[in-house]
Amino acid sequence: MEKLNQLYEGKAKKVFATEDPDLYIVSYKDDATAFNGLKKGTISGKGVVNNKMSNFLMQILEKNGVPTHYVEELNDRETVVKKVSIVPLEVIIRNVSAGSFAKNYGVEEGITFPEPTIEFSYKNDDLGDPLINSYHAFALGLATKEEIQTIKDMAFRVNDVLKEYFKSLGVRLIDFKLEFGRLGDGTIVPADEISPDTCRFCDINTNEKLDKDRFRRDLGGVEDAYNEMMKRVFNL
Ligand code: UDP
Repeated sequence: MEKLNQLYEGKAKKVFATEDPDLYIVSYKDDATAFNGLKKGTISGKGVVNNKMSNFLMQILEKNGVPTHYVEELNDRETVVKKVSIVPLEVIIRNVSAGSFAKNYGVEEGITFPEPTIEFSYKNDDLGDPLINSYHAFALGLATKEEIQTIKDMAFRVNDVLKEYFKSLGVRLIDFKLEFGRLGDGTIVPADEISPDTCRFCDINTNEKLDKDRFRRDLGGVEDAYNEMMKRVFNL
């Protein structure tokens, strides 16, 4: 399958049309941003890790009965995905306190919750992706009530599957962000990526951070963290 015209360039990916109107090609870059684009940099090899890891995780979800937008990996950085219309919500699931949760609610990082939490941000760069609840999402016409319920159920299901999978690799899944899209027939599927850019991971034994927090917080060893996650997922 060939890339045709570029439809979109985001912070970490480009999206291209293909000869099939129902399929797009996503191309992963090494560019990294944090804090709504205020911090910029590159993480060498990140695009390859995120492409391959995200595709692998999408296939695990499919095997566990969660449909996704994944179609086929073309090469190290490029993947064919189903065309979706993105629901403009960032859906965040948390198993352990970290990041904005710890900051907003004045608690330390690393507290394991009795059960996972869910929250939504309105995907809108001009507004800085503000936190919203599901009533607001419905009021703004971002999704129907049924879609919002499906998104909640699917997000928790994705968490159950991924949490168990990462545990088997000696990795704790602290939190992650999902985006959902509508296929042509209206089916809701997880779209976008699932990678160290969009998840927080740490080693179960050493608590070492293995994700983009190393970039956000200038901890060093950013490439090593991405490579370590790649090694564990692909048994390298
Ligand atoms: N996240 C993301 N994109 C965003 C915001 C958050 O992928 O624009 C992910 C982030 O990597 C983490 C989870 O969502 O795994 C929760 O992030 P949080 O709300 O704590 O915000 P942050 O501290 O990253 O600003």
